[in-house]
Amino acid sequence: MNKNQQLYQQVLLDHNKNPRNFGVMEHPTHTAKGTNPLCGDKLELYLKISDGGIIEDLKFDGSGCAISKSSASIMTTFLKGKTVEEAMETFDIFHQMVTGESYDKEAVSEKLGKLKIFEGVRQFPSRTKCATLVWHALKEALKKI
Ligand code: ZN
Repeated sequence: MNKNQQLYQQVLLDHNKNPRNFGVMEHPTHTAKGTNPLCGDKLELYLKISDGGIIEDLKFDGSGCAISKSSASIMTTFLKGKTVEEAMETFDIFHQMVTGESYDKEAVSEKLGKLKIFEGVRQFPSRTKCATLVWHALKEALKKI
């Protein structure tokens, strides 16, 4: 196992065991559900977005595998305080990194921070749906703006 894979495993296990922002949010402004029948992942995403388009708070709830749960945990941490526009941009870069035939490595290094640990998931097409599940829920929720 190389260093990146080790880091990936560690972060994944940590967030799976102690997911951040986990639980139901009271009075969210936006919500969306995501399901991945292939793996059995089911989650609900809650957002609190200000009138000015800042994502003030995010939470998620549900059950799923280690990848879907840690992806949701890291995403909700990462996007807190960001604008809706920044969140959409992050979606595009993340989605491209995990599912694209090729991707912009520079954008990944510059913009994704610790979300970059999911880079290796692209080698396992059966797991990409787990990693992107919460992101698709995010996109769905932001459509309602
Ligand atoms: Zn899964």
